[in-house]
Formats: sequence, structure tokens, C-alpha cells
Amino acid sequence: MTNENTWPQRCFLGFALSAPQRQQLCSWQQQLGDGNHRWVASANLHLTLAFLGQLQPSQMQQLLERVPLLPLQRFSQPLTQLAYWPKPNIACLTSEDVASALQQMAAEAQQLMHQLALPASEHSVYRPHITLARKASSLANSWQKLVPPQLNLQPTALHLYHSQSTDTGVRYQILNSWPLV
Ligand code: ATP
Ligand code: MG
Repeated sequence: MTNENTWPQRCFLGFALSAPQRQQLCSWQQQLGDGNHRWVASANLHLTLAFLGQLQPSQMQQLLERVPLLPLQRFSQPLTQLAYWPKPNIACLTSEDVASALQQMAAEAQQLMHQLALPASEHSVYRPHITLARKASSLANSWQKLVPPQLNLQPTALHLYHSQSTDTGVRYQILNSWPLV
């Protein structure tokens, strides 16, 4: 069991999928069937804006004050390419093109993290992606040859997620949400 009052809390900023989009990706996963990889559960499908790492209460407080100052604009982000990334060992749905409003939000989120003395992303380029499978090395050779699902992400809110590890696997709890306008 996780104690929600335990600090620090592992957090990230990100976007949810609509229920039909979750269903679409879940059906696509089911068509492929099980293997040595681990499919991401439908409830856990998401797009990360910024991984914040371990937050202390004071950092959480500052974050809650500053996130509303990010450029919280709506965007449409097509995700239509399958990629396998060896280092995190994930198979994902991604795009080489980033919607400009999303790009700007990601860049300002990194600046905010710097101001709050949170570790910056190790990647200099923001690459929007939805992780579909973890421990995915067995998919490495076949993944990109599959017909990708076609998804256009149009979220209406930015969420602050608490990433909790539980007996049944990771669970993301929404701690706060800000509407995109
Ligand atoms: P688990 O690590 O328990 O297998 P998870 O990777 O989904 O599950 P977290 O590690 O808490 O859970 O990650 C939450 C989100 O942040 C995921 O989208 C993950 O890909 C992303 N993330 C995690 N670590 C980093 C990192 N160092 N840099 C960028 N994104 C990260
Ligand atoms: Mg992880």
C-alpha cells in the first residue's frame, strides 16, 4: 500500500487521452496479443509534458503556484509513428513534428523546473510520445513494421500526476488539473 502523505512524491505533468482514444489503443494492443513485453494498461496511457521527479512539499507548493503561468494553450498533436527506444526499452506511438503550442509549453515547463531546482530533462529535444509497451526488447524488430494506430491528441487540460508504485503496478493519481484555453 502507498501512503499518499509520504514525501517526496514522484510526479510529472502530462495529458490524458479521451476514453475513445484509450479504447482505440487498447484494442490495437489486444490485436497484437501478449508476449515478453508488458502492455501499458488502458488507464495508464498518457502523454508526458515534463517529468518532475521527486517533489518535496515546498517544491509542490511552488509548482502549484507557477503552473498557471505556463502558456496553457490547446493544441492538436497527431501521433502516427511507431518507435522503439532502446534505453528506456519502450515501444511507443510518437511523431517527429511537435505542435507549436505543445513545444512552447514543454520548453517553459523545463524553465520552470530549472527555477524550482528540479533536475532538467536529460533530453534536449522534446519528443511527444505515448508509451504502449514496456520491457519491449522482444518487439524491437517487428514494432516499426506494424500499421500504427492513428491518433490526434487534443487534450482539454494539463494534469499534475503522482506516480505511485503499488502491488499491482504503477498508478498515476491526478493531484491537480488546469484547463487549456
Ligand atoms: P515504472 O517506472 O514504475 O515502470 P512509469 O515509467 O510509467 O512506471 P514513472 O517512472 O514514474 O512511471 O514515469 C512517469 C512518466 O514520466 C512516464 O511517462 C515516464 O516515461 C516519464 N519519465 C520517467 N522518468 C523520466 C525521465 N528521467 N525523463 C523523462 N521522462 C521520464
Ligand atoms: Mg519509469
